[in-house]
Amino acid sequence: MAVLHGTMKVKDNGHLLIGGVDVVEVARESEFPVYVLDEELLRKNMREYRKTFEKYYPNSMVHYASKALMTLAMCKIVESEGLGIDVVSGGELYTAIKAGFPMDKVVMHGNNKSVNEIKMGIENGVKIVIDNFYEIELVDKITKELNKSVDVLLRIKPGIHADTHHYVSTGHEDSKFGFIIKEDTAKKAIKQVVEKELINFKGIHMHIGSQIFNVTGYEKSIEIMADFIKELKEENIIVKEFDLGGGLGVIYTQEDDPMSITDFVKLLIEYVKREFEKRELELPKLMVEPGRSIVGEAGTTVYQVGSITEVPGIRKYIAINGGMGDNIRPALYGSKYDAVIANRMNGKEEELVTVAGKCCETGDIILKDIKLNEPKSGDVLAVFTTGAYNYTMASNYNRLPIPGVMLVNNGQKEWIVKPQSYEDILRNDIIPERLK
Ligand SMILES: *Cc1c(COP(=O)(O)O)cnc(C)c1O
Repeated sequence: MAVLHGTMKVKDNGHLLIGGVDVVEVARESEFPVYVLDEELLRKNMREYRKTFEKYYPNSMVHYASKALMTLAMCKIVESEGLGIDVVSGGELYTAIKAGFPMDKVVMHGNNKSVNEIKMGIENGVKIVIDNFYEIELVDKITKELNKSVDVLLRIKPGIHADTHHYVSTGHEDSKFGFIIKEDTAKKAIKQVVEKELINFKGIHMHIGSQIFNVTGYEKSIEIMADFIKELKEENIIVKEFDLGGGLGVIYTQEDDPMSITDFVKLLIEYVKREFEKRELELPKLMVEPGRSIVGEAGTTVYQVGSITEVPGIRKYIAINGGMGDNIRPALYGSKYDAVIANRMNGKEEELVTVAGKCCETGDIILKDIKLNEPKSGDVLAVFTTGAYNYTMASNYNRLPIPGVMLVNNGQKEWIVKPQSYEDILRNDIIPERLK
């Protein structure tokens, strides 16, 4: 049996409840899948990050990495829990602005920010994480044009390999993100920044990857960064802020065994204190940017089972009313998930099947070789841990509408993103006059 997350419970009739809402009904009321979001679990995770820092390292800030799941309502929840937001594009920043999110709690990332994105960031007073030399000049030019200063961090690659999928490993030297420490590259960059009239150098940022279970990557990186910060200090450049990025893993399948948020934060704090004290460095303001570990397990996608195709002697395909359009991760990274037949939670999971999407791609497989409780057409399949990087990576491939996101809490269900309609899909289509 798949691990139940957050407020998940099984009703007497064998239906899966999330936030007190019967998700079998939710799935059956919709032609397409629905992303269900457990508000209580979401808030609990945010609080766990914030409370642990408050207790052990008050000079700190937790920025939710909004690329995991960004909507107007998410901004409101994040704000009410006292976290900041990290954005990686103009679109994410625009969402935060429209939600009325406090801009002094926003950090902007990206390895190729456009002139407009940088302008938008500076005009709104967000902190910018500078990624490369090209951007130093761009930010300098724009601050002068706008005659407005900006606080910045610089993204530095510690040069280590995080223990995760290479597509989501970002701290090694060959990564496209940030400055390397070697050959004084990062130091040169910081010296350039310090010279700029309207750019305030605040500190450094690292982000070594995602879905990480083993903290040695963080430990090593913090050591390397502390050495680097010491070197800077010897040249009178003070790092006041140190951003450790995100990356803590979550439970997708029973094989995943992440540490708790509390333990993770405590270890990071321990490493920072130890390495900074060893070098007689003043403790910086510490920041983290968790995405997946806040929202991942709080999301569940509910589907209806349609056709079932048996390939004798090979496998049985269970087809669902969604697929790679609402969850590209299996096709993109070979990601694994757990799932249940949500209308028959009380039985045993003993039939080995493969769950396929409805897109015209052989690779549109959501779960390969998973044991389910005798799936039948008309059943409801709930795929767990789809809160992060599912809705935000969704596409209209095959012109399937992007599913809605439903917030559930205490028996209440509310859309925070409406399901797309066919009209929504056509919204930007144009027939030029000569083709009419
Ligand atoms: C994606 C990303 C994060 C969040 O990573 P998670 O693994 O979702 O916690 C944090 N910081 C930066 C710079 C990122 O690109």
